[in-house]
Amino acid sequence: MTTINDFDFKDKKALIRVDFNVPLDEHFKVTDTTRIVSAKPTIFKILEDGGSCVLMSHLGRPKGISPEFSLEHIVDVVTEIIGVSVKFVNDCVGSSVEEAVNSLEAGEIVLLENLRFYDEEKGGDHEFAKQLSKLGDIYVNDAFGTAHRAHASTTIVAQFFEGKKCFGNLLAKEIESINKVFKDSEKPVTAILGGSKVSSKITVIENILDKVDHLIIGGGMSFTFIKAQGGSIGDSICEDDKQELALEILKKAEEKGVKVHLPVDVVAADAFSNEANTQFVDIYHIPDGWQGLDAGPKSNIGFSFIIAQSKTILWNGPLGVFEMKKFAKGTIELGNAIADATAEGAFSLVGGGDSVAAVKQFGFADKVSYVSTGGGAMLEMLEGKSLPGIEAILT
Ligand code: AMP
Repeated sequence: MTTINDFDFKDKKALIRVDFNVPLDEHFKVTDTTRIVSAKPTIFKILEDGGSCVLMSHLGRPKGISPEFSLEHIVDVVTEIIGVSVKFVNDCVGSSVEEAVNSLEAGEIVLLENLRFYDEEKGGDHEFAKQLSKLGDIYVNDAFGTAHRAHASTTIVAQFFEGKKCFGNLLAKEIESINKVFKDSEKPVTAILGGSKVSSKITVIENILDKVDHLIIGGGMSFTFIKAQGGSIGDSICEDDKQELALEILKKAEEKGVKVHLPVDVVAADAFSNEANTQFVDIYHIPDGWQGLDAGPKSNIGFSFIIAQSKTILWNGPLGVFEMKKFAKGTIELGNAIADATAEGAFSLVGGGDSVAAVKQFGFADKVSYVSTGGGAMLEMLEGKSLPGIEAILT
C-alpha cells in the first residue's frame, strides 16, 4: 500500500482529494470540523517535506454553479485549523487555476472551488480528470468518504499519475483498521450490528459471517429475528418480508460456527416518545401496544460479557433509539464495554452511520481504537466490496 510516507514532497505540488464536505449552518458557518481536522496529518507531512498542497473537494449536492455550495465558505476555518493561510481559487480547472497553482511556493496551500459545480466530476469524465491532473506532481487520495464513488477526482484522475499516486494518512488509516478487523485480526472477533433495518445490513451480515466469532444483533433489526423465531414483539418495528432471511442468517451462522447473540430483554415503551411509559420485558413476550426501543439490563450484561472477552471488535449501529435519552442506555453501556475492552488491549473499530454519531455524542470517540470517517464508504467495505477510489491507487 503506497502512502504519503513513501514520497518526499520537497518542491513537489501534491494534488490532494480531501473530503471537506462539512455541514454548514444557515450563515454558512461550519458546524462540525471533524473532516477538516482529519486531513491535517496528510497536509502537515507534505508541508514539512517542503512541498505545497492543492486541495480539492466537493461540498453538498449542488446543481451546477451555486454560491451556497462554494468552498469559499470554509477557507477561514481551514486556515485556522491548519494554521497556514489558505488561498482560494473560484474554479477547479482551467487556466486561472493552473496559474494559481503554478505560482504556489513550498509551504503554501490552495483550495479549489467545489468539484461538483461540474457534472463531469460525478460523471467520472476522463477529460475533466485530465484537467485536474495538471494541478499536481503527485496525486494523494485522502477522501475516504467518497472512496466508494468512481468520480473524476476520486478515481479517474489517478490514471494520470502512474507511479506518483498514494493514499493520504486518513485513507490509509481507514484501510488499515478494516484490515485489522477482517484480515489480520486477533481472535475472538465480535461484530455488533444494530440500527433499524435488517434489509440495510444484510450484505454486511453475509460478508462478516466468514470473519467473526460472535455476532451481536441489536436495535430495531433484532425484532425481525425474534418474530421469525415465533416471539411476540408487540408493536416493535419489524420487516415481515425479511423473516425468512433472518432464519437463513441464523442457520448460516450456525453452520459457520458463529455465535449469534440477540437481546433477551428490552425497554418496552407505550409510545415512540421520550415521555412514554416504559417497562423491562422479555424480548419474546412484548405485550401488544408496547414496542421495544432499547436493549434491557439482562441483554446489556450479556453483551458486555461477550465484548470483555473479545480481542477485535467491530461496531455498526445503535442498540436502541439513542436519540431519545430514555432509550440510550443500551447504546451507552455497549460503548462503555467496548471502551473497557479497548483499554485492556482489544482493537475496536466503530464505523458506518449512526454508531459514529452515538460514539461522539456519548464521548467514546477517544476510548475506541478507531472511528471511521466515512458512512457509506465504510458500509461498502464491511460488505466486502472493493472501493474504486482505493483500487485506483492500488492498480
Ligand atoms: P441505521 O441507520 O440502520 O444504523 O439505524 C439507526 C437508527 O435506528 C437510529 O436512528 C435509531 O434510533 C434506530 N433504532 C435503533 N433501535 C431501534 C428500535 N428498537 N426501534 C426503532 N428504531 C430503532
